[in-house]
This record gives sequence, structure tokens and C-alpha cells, in this order.
Amino acid sequence: MSVYLEAAVDMKDEIEEIWTALHGMPEPPFQETKTAGFIAYRLSEAGFDVKKGLADTGIVADLGDPAAGDLTGPVIALRADMDAMRHDIDGREVWVHSCGHDAHSTIVITAGLMLARRCAGARGRLRLIFQPGEETGLGAGRMIEAGAVRGVDALIGMHLRPVSECRVGQATPCLWHSAGRTLSYSVVGKPSHTGRPHLGINVADAVAMATLAVNNVKPDPLRCATVNVVALSAGDGPGGVIPERGSLTVNIRSESDQIADELSSKVDGAVRAVVAANGAEAGLKREKQMPAPRYDEGMIALARRAIVSVLGEGGVVEKITTPGSEDFHWYARRTPRLHAAYIGLGANFSPGLHHPDASFDKKALVYGAAILAEAAADFLNSGISFEVGCEGRRM
Ligand SMILES: [Zn+2]
Ligand SMILES: [Zn+2]
Repeated sequence: MSVYLEAAVDMKDEIEEIWTALHGMPEPPFQETKTAGFIAYRLSEAGFDVKKGLADTGIVADLGDPAAGDLTGPVIALRADMDAMRHDIDGREVWVHSCGHDAHSTIVITAGLMLARRCAGARGRLRLIFQPGEETGLGAGRMIEAGAVRGVDALIGMHLRPVSECRVGQATPCLWHSAGRTLSYSVVGKPSHTGRPHLGINVADAVAMATLAVNNVKPDPLRCATVNVVALSAGDGPGGVIPERGSLTVNIRSESDQIADELSSKVDGAVRAVVAANGAEAGLKREKQMPAPRYDEGMIALARRAIVSVLGEGGVVEKITTPGSEDFHWYARRTPRLHAAYIGLGANFSPGLHHPDASFDKKALVYGAAILAEAAADFLNSGISFEVGCEGRRM
């Protein structure tokens, strides 16, 4: 049996207490102050050197080496996200941990505590990263700018999976997220009296026809891709006025950045052409991007060994392709020397991610912590070193 699984099983009550505390303080992106305070307290108590306030509420916690000062490397970092999601329930705005980020923080705290107690090689070489605002797609980028992965050689992330993808007792060392693009347009027409519509340009018509045009952008059915209009508006004024202002938001998902960019370009062309044909103008207000993964094969192998040691060969699902996106992938995109892997953890999460009533099997917290600790210990004990800037991305 994995020593870290044994240790995590022994810590089961402490793990559930940590999760219960985090679950009870769901906070919006970049406002995770209570969450960050709780995490910082638990890790400081365990001897971590904790830096708070990166990207507003982010945390970097290093297991320092008193003899050598700062991290000496090669360094492995375990990354969790902290933000909750907004739901509208019975007309009220409620924040809920419906994407399991409370679980991810619990798992990374626990793995850190176990490594601090049991892995001598972790001194001076282990970093824990807790980022804000994952759901906005901006948290990872801001953490990179704040130096969260400066000096880090290897990075592992983890996310609970919905029951439709895998079950508790299973995990994948290669969770293949989709690339995401969200295009938000403002549409401007011309107001007039509704009795004299020929003197105005009605944005309701332009936005409606642009929606049909977007729906006519057809992804190749043999590749994993979707295109959806997710929000539209036109006018908000008195009934007697032809509306002048509207908006349209389109979300694109795909298995690769190339396909996502091609679809994005087709959507943009369709929206602009149709809106212009109505005499209105479409302006791109915002484009949110989530990149496709870039993984290191050596890191995938490392993650696989950790899964096998905790869940056995039967627990490995080699690869899961998911339509979900993750801002985690910015870390490796924007930091070429970084070697990354991302584990999908079976948790019987249901009815599904982002559902306000979501729940999962708490055994996943024990398994997740043990898997991350095993992976980090494998890295820290194996004397792996990377060539800086290696683009072959093999260990
Ligand atoms: Zn989410
Ligand atoms: Zn999430």
C-alpha cells in the first residue's frame, strides 16, 4: 500500500475538517480572503513559508530549507484553485463551491502537510500554489505575473471529475481539456420611433440574425468542437423606440487551439457580416481565451505511477478528453521551461460540475491527496533535473 495513502487514511478526519471549513466559506473570484486566510494559517502552522496577496488573494507556500534559505530546486509545485461559483437560487445570488475548488485546496493542503512530515527531499524544493479566479480565466495569468511559478520546474494540477467521466477509485494522468474562446460583441444600431422604423436600425433584428449566422458555423463532426450563442440582448428602453444598443456573446470549445481559432475567425466573420448587412455595427468588446493543454510526457508518466501506487493499475484511465476548460494551461503556455501534468480525479461528482446541488464522495479527498503526495515524492526523491528551456518536453 502506498505510504501516502496510509498517511492520508490516518488523516481522514483532519482532511474532512479542512474541506468542511473551506466548503463553508465560498467566495467570488479575487475575493477569496477568508479562504486564503484559512489556508495560510494551516500551512504556516506546519512550517511553510507563506506569501499572501499574489493576484489579490493568491498564495504561494514554500517548504523552505532552513540551511539553504529559499527554494534550491529542482522545484515541484502543486496547484489548487480557490474560487466558488455564482448561482441564482430562488431569485437570490448565492456562491457555491460547485466546481469542487474547495476539494482541490483541501487536497493540496493535505499533500503539503504529508510531504512536510514525511519527505526529507521536499525541504527547499516544494511549493504549493493556491490561485484565485480560475472561473474567470484570469487567475493563472495574474499568478504568473506575480511570480508564482518563477523558479518552478514541474507543476501538477488536479480536478474532480463528474461521474459521467470516471468514478471514485479511478483517475487519469492525462485530463485533456478543451481550448475555449468566448467572444463578446456590442452591437450598435440607430434609434427611431417605432411608427417610423425605416428611419432607424433595429439592433434586435441584427442580433437575431447574427445568432442564426453563428448557428450556421458548423464544426467538423469528426473533431471535438462546439459553437454556442450564450447571451444576447437588444434594447431596454420604452416600447415606442426602435432599440439602438445590443450585445451578443459566443462560446467556442474545441480539442485544439488551432480548431478553436479557426472557428473563432468564422464566427467573427459571420457576426460582422450579418450585423453590417443590417446597417448596424458590431464591435468585439472582449475575447476570453482558455488554451488547450500542453503536457510533458515525463510528467504524465510520473502522474500515472502515482495513480497506480494509490489506486492500482485498475484505477488508471489513460486519458479523458473533456469539453471543460482550465486556466491552469496558461502556466505552461507562458512559461516554456515549465513541465506540467494535470490529473483528473474520479469523485462520483454529481449531478455534474457547476450544478448548485453538486456533491461528491469524500473518499476522493484521501485518494487525491495521496496521489499528489506520491507524485511529488517521486519527483523529489528521483533526482530528476530538467534542462532549462527544454522544448522536447521529455524528462
Ligand atoms: Zn468550473
Ligand atoms: Zn473548476
